Amino acid sequence: MIREVPFDPIPIANYKDIVPAETYAEIEKLAKKLKGIRVIHLNTSPSGGGVAEILRSLVPLLKGLGLDADWFVSRKNDNFFRITKEIHNFLQGKKGDLTAAQRDVYLKTNQEVADFFNDKHADVWVIHDPQFVAISQFHKNLHPSIWRCHIDTSQPNLFVWRFLLPFIQKYDRYIFTLRKYLGPDLDYTKARIIAPAIDPLSRKNNPLDKSAADQIVARFGLDPSKPLVSQISRFDPWKDPWGVMDAYRIAKKEIPNLQLALIGAFAPDDPEADDIVADLKKYTKGDQNISILSNRDGVNDVEVNAFQVASDAIIQKSTREGFGLTVSEGMWKEKPVIGGRAGGIVQQLDDGETGFLVTTADQTAEKIVYLLENPEKSEEMGKKGREVVRHKFLITRLLLDHLHLYDELV
Ligand code: UDP
Repeated sequence: MIREVPFDPIPIANYKDIVPAETYAEIEKLAKKLKGIRVIHLNTSPSGGGVAEILRSLVPLLKGLGLDADWFVSRKNDNFFRITKEIHNFLQGKKGDLTAAQRDVYLKTNQEVADFFNDKHADVWVIHDPQFVAISQFHKNLHPSIWRCHIDTSQPNLFVWRFLLPFIQKYDRYIFTLRKYLGPDLDYTKARIIAPAIDPLSRKNNPLDKSAADQIVARFGLDPSKPLVSQISRFDPWKDPWGVMDAYRIAKKEIPNLQLALIGAFAPDDPEADDIVADLKKYTKGDQNISILSNRDGVNDVEVNAFQVASDAIIQKSTREGFGLTVSEGMWKEKPVIGGRAGGIVQQLDDGETGFLVTTADQTAEKIVYLLENPEKSEEMGKKGREVVRHKFLITRLLLDHLHLYDELV
């Protein structure tokens, strides 16, 4: 049901030259105070999406600072994950409701997970996203505890929000990415607003030469001498990959040799992806300049890094987006980003400064053409984007936010 994710601690010293000196000093100071406290993080999957991406760096960094931090995830559980993906979609605004049978399975699984943790001790529990939020109902003493919501709950389906609300209320703190994600009837005094962040030293974000990146994308059949735009996302309806393809087709009228890469990861807790990929493949209508690739084709962290570095612009045309790490990942690589005017993307992108905010495929196409025809402007935007990320969206800032919150609770 639940397993521990093995990892090696990451030393904070690795980041000394990258982060602002005050942040670094404060991390060290707080870590001394919190040394030895036991922190347990729980989410569903060790790979394949933004939450896993954050925890892969955050938990090892906590451990490197001397906290007794551990990370637990769920084992494969298809029936449960089909229900929790529905819950995810409902919380992002999908209409409808869970059936009584779905609620039963959801609660029963949460009870089993709570039982698993009943004999374990933590000084701080951090439960990510709605999949296991209800363990607060069944665990003997899940305190002090934090519920970290990563999704865009600005317009939640109220049936499902109200079903989960009693479980959410049992936490001592809730973290949301934006103030507007605070759903109705929460105890706002317990809420904290914290933006996610990227790890500049992960294999995905480590410096990579353009020529090395070009060689890697060429291995996947792309031509590095031709223009390339990419969207790197789970295959998910809210990421609007069809809209990206529409935009590519419109832009291609002006830029005939344009290539598009849609890179997606299959995550065990995201059962919708297979159907979406099958549909997208049909939607290419045989266009060889559209590449749909994933971890199943060998596109892992280094390859994602390469696609981001090799691209002329990064697209993230989401219609709902909790945060969208891929936007910061693109900006960190000095790429202009064309992002959907949604949730956390608006928080990261300065429209006209570090990229563009768009809604329709036409607007996306117009911005693709603009950026490809104005490489100097693209370069300027990319450079600005990297500085925005350096100051606001690096993992060390997130680490410090977590330490402050643990300090408040223990
Ligand atoms: N990602 C990846 N391989 C892929 C697609 C996505 O490694 O084929 C990563 C991406 O680089 C990012 C994360 O998955 O780090 C997605 O996080 P984001 O916040 O953008 O979206 P989420 O999946 O959480 O909705």
